Amino acid sequence: MVRCKSCGYLFSNQDTCPSCGSQFVDELEECVFCGKSVTKPYIWNGVCSDCQKQYATVDTAIGFGERYTDVVEINGFVSYFLGSDRINEILTNYVRNANQETLSKDAVRFCEDDFDCYTMYLNELKDEPDKIHVRNRLHKKLKRRN
Ligand SMILES: [Zn+2]
Ligand SMILES: [Zn+2]
Repeated sequence: MVRCKSCGYLFSNQDTCPSCGSQFVDELEECVFCGKSVTKPYIWNGVCSDCQKQYATVDTAIGFGERYTDVVEINGFVSYFLGSDRINEILTNYVRNANQETLSKDAVRFCEDDFDCYTMYLNELKDEPDKIHVRNRLHKKLKRRN
């Protein structure tokens, strides 16, 4: 779908606007979450900029972080004694109880820092409602769509 830059007329992919004959068009893509048709720079990996912002929550960041793990140096005995699952569990609980304002801001930054992977991750969530790590609103939305 494209939109004429001159008259705003919507039509499917052709070079010339059937309404006014203009050749200046914006390509539109439909957001996988909200279904809004958005021009290309404002949609990435199928997720519109509104949804990108809306879903950049602490829960999303934690889910996203599970997929894109990081390597840190840690006390060898602590690692031996607890193992990575338990360490992740303890630290995730610790993070969840951190200052909520700082946490939310960092969650947004973490998602935006790797924007391409973040939007790809969001896009994949639409097909895996069971693995969803985003706030309730999105969960309900997805259930309605399916
Ligand atoms: Zn036109
Ligand atoms: Zn959207």
